[in-house]
Amino acid sequence: MPMPSYPIYCHTPGCKHLAAYKIAALWSDGRQSELKTYGLCCEDCLPKWFERGREKQKECRLTAGETLETPGIWAMRHGERDKRLERLADLEQKFANG
Ligand SMILES: [Zn+2]
Repeated sequence: MPMPSYPIYCHTPGCKHLAAYKIAALWSDGRQSELKTYGLCCEDCLPKWFERGREKQKECRLTAGETLETPGIWAMRHGERDKRLERLADLEQKFANG
């Protein structure tokens, strides 16, 4: 699914910023894979959503053959498909270390 071209806002209730990041984890059943999105957020709300994504991943029950990677942070790009989004490994590292 291409991203819609209209502005996308942070998912935090009450937050008026545009979403700049996507918290998502790569899911696969061995045949196909997709990004499972946990939330879209602005820079201010990023630590909270990253944490929430990690919690959700722990709760997720997988069936045989399914894999779900640790949630990561992707830069939002309007009009880009998921597979072309840039993964921000440096930021993930920063938050994962506290
Ligand atoms: Zn926000």
